Amino acid sequence: RSRLMQPESERSADTHPLTWRLRDDGEVVWLDEYLGKDGYQSVRRALSEGDPQAIIAAMKDANVRGRGGAGFPAGLKWSLTLQGDDMPRGYLICNADEMEPGTFKDRLLMEQQPHLLIEGMILGAYANNSRSGYIFLRGEYVESARVLNQALQEAREARWLGNDIDGSGFDFDIVVHTGAGRYICGEETALISSLEGKRANPRAKPPFPGQSGAWGKPSVVNNVETLCNVPAVILNGADWYQALSGDRTDDGGSKLYGISGPVHRPGLWELPMGTTGREIIALAGGLRGDHKLKAWLPGGASTGFLLPEHLDLPLDFDTVGKEGSRLGTGLLTVVPENQSMVALMRNLEAFFARESCGWCTPCRDGLPWTVKLLQALEHGEGEEGDIELLDKLAADCGPGLTFCAHAPGAAMPLETALKHFRHEFEQGITQSRGPAHQDPIPVGS
Ligand code: NAD
Repeated sequence: RSRLMQPESERSADTHPLTWRLRDDGEVVWLDEYLGKDGYQSVRRALSEGDPQAIIAAMKDANVRGRGGAGFPAGLKWSLTLQGDDMPRGYLICNADEMEPGTFKDRLLMEQQPHLLIEGMILGAYANNSRSGYIFLRGEYVESARVLNQALQEAREARWLGNDIDGSGFDFDIVVHTGAGRYICGEETALISSLEGKRANPRAKPPFPGQSGAWGKPSVVNNVETLCNVPAVILNGADWYQALSGDRTDDGGSKLYGISGPVHRPGLWELPMGTTGREIIALAGGLRGDHKLKAWLPGGASTGFLLPEHLDLPLDFDTVGKEGSRLGTGLLTVVPENQSMVALMRNLEAFFARESCGWCTPCRDGLPWTVKLLQALEHGEGEEGDIELLDKLAADCGPGLTFCAHAPGAAMPLETALKHFRHEFEQGITQSRGPAHQDPIPVGS
């Protein structure tokens, strides 16, 4: 179960828009309690004002960036979605396929406060001219499915979903669609294929889903945490939201940061955007026992390794991007000094190889090859040239060389591990590459 580490006494509506309603006992905030804590007030206000474009403008002004990991500005995404009376109605899709290793933030929101997500989705649908919404949920999140479905039923009975929501004339409803436990389903075009009942293969973009998404209709795909930010932006305004991060960063708002690995108190905190790695590790009580920090991933397996010298960087989308990594989901994974980077990378690449859909060659063939090389290095059976081959396999997975971000995501931790800890990989080489291992003569030469 996901754990929020801040007690109720440390959270308030002024500073913790995502979590201030959560209970210390971790029980679900059901509709009655949610309504007593300003629940659905943003929907009431937005629907009575009747100006969907104002919602998009507020999201843009607040500079809410996508919390799934990529940080694309949500208001901009909404403004680029085909809409208007002459356009076909599309879909509002919540990406709840949370499968990034070390990431458990959306689960907390769905399992303990499902109505905040529903409220955010109503606003998103209203802004984007959708009448149908989907929550594409990770299959293993059985408890989230149970809680969400019960909350959806509560919302329908109270007329916050269905026809004529709150007497406004706006109709919208949501279906929970559970996946079958594949990482690639979290990639938005694969997600849409899966939703349509097809194999979850990603496709090249453009067209972006906002132009042509589910069943060819304009579709907005947003992460759970992103959508959960919308009600507070509408109720409190863009300036208030921006100010939550103070002068730490230009990215507005708060963020669900978290941590796992050998720390005293792994878990989640809602903190100002731009909080540093050092602050988060301190909140977690530091590393356990005699462990010393060797490296850390700022937001899941598909981000790049950072070092202790990066601990004072504000964890926002642009700053982390400049260090050869990316913020990703904002849930740190701590690597202690006695951890072999070769073994760690073998484990991560085995995950990425297994979860590849097999559509693009660098991903389908390159990732298993990477695992083979790493296994050899791990057992001290590497050959000269193996590390250069790893460099090349990672480069072949670079952005733009595959249909989706899966292979680039697999390459990022490998490239940064090779950059910062190359000597560990070199220690795995015991043999010279002999004639039997020479590259084949290129066809046609
Ligand atoms: P992306 O940069 O291709 O796209 C991000 C979003 O921005 C998409 O919704 C895309 O449609 C939109 N977008 C980008 N350019 C656009 C444009 N010109 N016009 C309109 N919309 C545009 O990244 P991605 O492949 O969606 O996501 C990669 C990220 O996902 C990584 O950062 C990784 O950390 C994260 N990730 C998260 C999880 C998780 O469980 N939360 C799992 C795997 C990966």
